[in-house]
Parts: sequence; C-alpha cells; structure tokens
Amino acid sequence: MRKIDLRGKHALVLGVANQRSLAWAIGDALGEAGCKLAFTYQGERLQKNVNKLAQKYPGSPVMACDVTSEEQVDGVFARVEKDFKKLDILVHSIAFARQEDLKGDYRDTTLEGWRTALEISAFSLVHLTNRAVELMPREGGSILALTYLASQKVVPNYNVMGSAKAALEHAVRQLAAELGPEKIRVNAISAGPVPTLSARGISGFTGMASHHAKAAPLGRNVSPQEVGDAGLFLCSPMASGITGEILFVDAGYNIMGV
Ligand code: NAP
Repeated sequence: MRKIDLRGKHALVLGVANQRSLAWAIGDALGEAGCKLAFTYQGERLQKNVNKLAQKYPGSPVMACDVTSEEQVDGVFARVEKDFKKLDILVHSIAFARQEDLKGDYRDTTLEGWRTALEISAFSLVHLTNRAVELMPREGGSILALTYLASQKVVPNYNVMGSAKAALEHAVRQLAAELGPEKIRVNAISAGPVPTLSARGISGFTGMASHHAKAAPLGRNVSPQEVGDAGLFLCSPMASGITGEILFVDAGYNIMGV
C-alpha cells in the first residue's frame, strides 16, 4: 500500500489560532506524515494554543509573526534557516478583514479596509513565497494557500474578503507559473464553511453554513480533518503533477446551480 511519507521534509505553517483552525488540521496531517514543523502565531494570547500542537511534534519552533511586520517575518525565516537549513513546504492559512468590512454594503468599503484585507489575506502570500523560495532545495517545494468560493461568486457579507480571495487565487496561478521551472508547486484549497474564529467573524456565518450543508451533493459540511488531508495530499509528492490549482474541498457545493 502506498502511504504519504514526509520524513526528511520541513514545513512552515502560518495561521494556527486554535484547535479549530484549518492550519491546525493541515499542520497535524503533515506532522503525522513525519514532516518537521515550524509554527507561527499572532498575538501572545494565541501562543499557548499553538504550543499545544507544537508539543505533539517535539522540536517544532513556535514564533510570533504578524505578516505586516517585516521584522517578524525576517525573524521567522532566520529561525527556520537556523533550525531546518531548508524549507520544503509553506502553508499560508491567514486572512483578515476589519469587522465593519464584513457586513453591510460592499460599496462602503474604504481604502483602508481594502488595503488591510488585501495586504494580510493576499499580498502576504506573494511576500512569504518570495522569502520561502530562498530556502527551498533544488528538488523543489510546495506552497499551499486557503481560499473560499466568494472569490468567484457573491456570498452575502463576505464583501472585501471576496476581493482578497480573488487576488489570492490569481497570485496562486501567477506564482505557480513563475516557480514551475524551480519545481516549486503552488496550490490552494477552496474550503467549504468550517466554524473557525475567522469564519465566525462573518455576519450570518451559521445560516450560510447550514445552507451549504443542505445544498452540497454530500449533504453536509466538511470537517477540518478533510481539509487537512487534502492539504497533506497537495503538499506531498502524491500531487507532484499538480500546480496552480484551486482544489475545492466543500462536499461538492461549488458544482451546484439550482
Ligand atoms: P482561523 O483559525 O481564525 O485562522 C486565521 C488565522 O489568520 C489566525 O491564526 C489569525 O490570527 C491569522 N491572521 C490574521 N491576521 C494576521 C496577520 N496580520 N498576521 C499573521 N496572521 C494573521 O480561521 P481559518 O478559518 O482556519 O482560516 C484559515 C484560512 O482558511 C483563511 O485564509 C480563511 O479565509 C480560509 N478559509 C476558511 C474557511 C472557513 O469556513 N473557516 C473557508 C474557506 C477558506 P489571529 O487570530 O491572531 O488574528
């Protein structure tokens, strides 16, 4: 039987806030496949949550990283280089928009709200990729981002985050084309609704999630573990022929018309 074996590989996982985070499920799946892990957290209050996952994989560095702080990003990559010498996998599971930009009329989005959402949720992928490729070995690497259907379809209250996800998905394709010659693959998972901290910041999330569950071909929502397993697959050699792809892990919701 073929099994995913990531022993000897090193991953940097950004975006674990707590046990419900999609980054937690992806990090855990990578760790169980033998991958060495480094984690980041944003804000002291989340450090202890991230430590819980890191303790399961002894020797995993846990570092503070607000992606808008160049000093912290520098610190993260310096530590990864020191501890790991190389980086095979980058997991970008980060998104943020101001609360006031996740409700009401989209046309009320301010330039500041737009900049914040796009900088943290989309530009950070471009910037972190640029830093990560410096540490990726000659045999290549894998970069994974998390997106949502609101990049393509209108979802109430997702507002500026839909614009950020559209930019993120474009960045995935652009980076995949550019980094293909270096054997670095760049993909994203478009996950169905999962009740995480960020998801709960979207007004009406619970109603939206139950609509998804009713309309999806599988008649339910996906679990974080299902997203984690798909992340493991995309980051592993099993997906060596896949790049620039947006893989829906949404119980099939996206294929439905009426
Ligand atoms: P989550 O657990 O809240 O994770 C989001 C992470 O982004 C948090 O760790 C958050 O830290 C971090 N973050 C926000 N601003 C940051 C910054 N400036 N620098 C560094 N980190 C920052 O929620 P999640 O649902 O797992 O989200 C992960 C990814 O999945 C996001 O890209 C999200 O859009 C995507 N996604 C989620 C769903 C869903 O339904 N849950 C569906 C599709 C796609 P703080 O908590 O400290 O802000």
